[in-house]
Amino acid sequence: MVQTLGCQMNVHDSRRIREVLRDEGYESTDEAELADLIVVNTCSVREKAEHKLMSLLGRLRPLKEARRDVVLAVAGCVAQQEGARLLKKVPYLDLVLGPDNIPDLPALLADVDAGRRRSLTVFDLDSPRFLSAAPDPERPEVACFVTVMKGCDERCTYCIVPTTRGAERYRPADEIVAEVSSLARGGVREVTLLGQTVNSWYEPGVARPGLRAPSESAFADLLRRIAREVPELSRLRYTSPHPRHITPALVAAHAELELLPAHVHLPSQSGSDAVLKRMSRRYTQAEYLERAESLKSARPGFTLSTDLIVGFPGETEEDFLHTLDLVRNAGFVAAFCFKYSPRPGTPALSLGDDVPEGVKQERLARLFEVVAEQQRAHLRSLVDTEVEVLVTARGDDGRWQGRSQRHEKVHLELAPDVTPMGELLRARVAEAFDHSLLAVGRGGRLEPKRRRLPLAQEPST
Ligand code: SF4
Repeated sequence: MVQTLGCQMNVHDSRRIREVLRDEGYESTDEAELADLIVVNTCSVREKAEHKLMSLLGRLRPLKEARRDVVLAVAGCVAQQEGARLLKKVPYLDLVLGPDNIPDLPALLADVDAGRRRSLTVFDLDSPRFLSAAPDPERPEVACFVTVMKGCDERCTYCIVPTTRGAERYRPADEIVAEVSSLARGGVREVTLLGQTVNSWYEPGVARPGLRAPSESAFADLLRRIAREVPELSRLRYTSPHPRHITPALVAAHAELELLPAHVHLPSQSGSDAVLKRMSRRYTQAEYLERAESLKSARPGFTLSTDLIVGFPGETEEDFLHTLDLVRNAGFVAAFCFKYSPRPGTPALSLGDDVPEGVKQERLARLFEVVAEQQRAHLRSLVDTEVEVLVTARGDDGRWQGRSQRHEKVHLELAPDVTPMGELLRARVAEAFDHSLLAVGRGGRLEPKRRRLPLAQEPST
């Protein structure tokens, strides 16, 4: 059993853990009572995830005491951060495993079987390893993540990721394209390229020492190459881009490649230049907006969503008003908004935590209100327009669901005999809800849309 706490990167790592274990003969279960091995894959970006780990381990303690042969492991960012200390804190824990050590899991489990508690949290800086996913015929998937880089060289002062994931390491383009291609041949229709600053990707070995990105077109060229070499794919997304790496070449790729959605989730964190500076985000509100505008000009109807933090140390009411300005000026149609909370091991700890909880809460509520109104207005503007939907699931209400080319969640009203899972369909929006759309196929039936292939172009990667 693999239990995931935290972000998309962790969901992706959990899948890799399952695959490594499957190759060792393990079968997956969702019931702790049936498991011989329980891996808790952790996140330390937000306070709650760490609390969740300790309370989850507490709940698993009686099970471990009743069945001493059950192996209890902690993986992910908390494991990386705490290492062997976690074995001391939790005496019934058998194994601690860093994110780069997933391939070592079988050897570590052999040690545990031999009676040795183990902790391995070593970054693979010299020769980075990227595990490839293979399509699973027993669990066919429409959408998958593919890692293109790991670690982070940014130093955002509120963030623990550079400590828990290490320095940036990049995956060769051949490996990335091979994985995307294999998944697409196995039925996957949407791939999301994954990395902490995904658009800083460049071909390893091409960079000259000391230079972060030798070519501003490297990531755009990777997108073009995937579009050209994997024609089975319907959508290609990426997360999370850093505003500093939104280059003209990337904007041009959005204009050229129909495979890319007309939407990007572009974290901004704050609209105040003073706060952005204390966060070490290395852009101003004006620079962020300039890049946002260039993306929005790439295609008609292009939308942006973002991440925002309120109550960062020293944030004044005026700083917060700059954030509301940014939300309005960028026209975000959705946002993940959080109250700042100090995290152990981050540089921002030295700045204190001087915004009172009540003020944070009040600013968060005001921010939610502005974002929600913009989201509602955007969704209402789509009524009676046509959307292109990739069908990814069937809801409890029996309706098919998917995402539009702008990533809006769409519920589909279809004839009962239609089973469009994994298809790219065109539908007319009949109704807008607060967070999603209802769409129907023209004439009650949906029509597949033919995707234009991108122009052939040689990448420089
Ligand atoms: S870019 Fe900043 S917030 Fe994102 S992972 Fe890197 S340090 Fe953390």
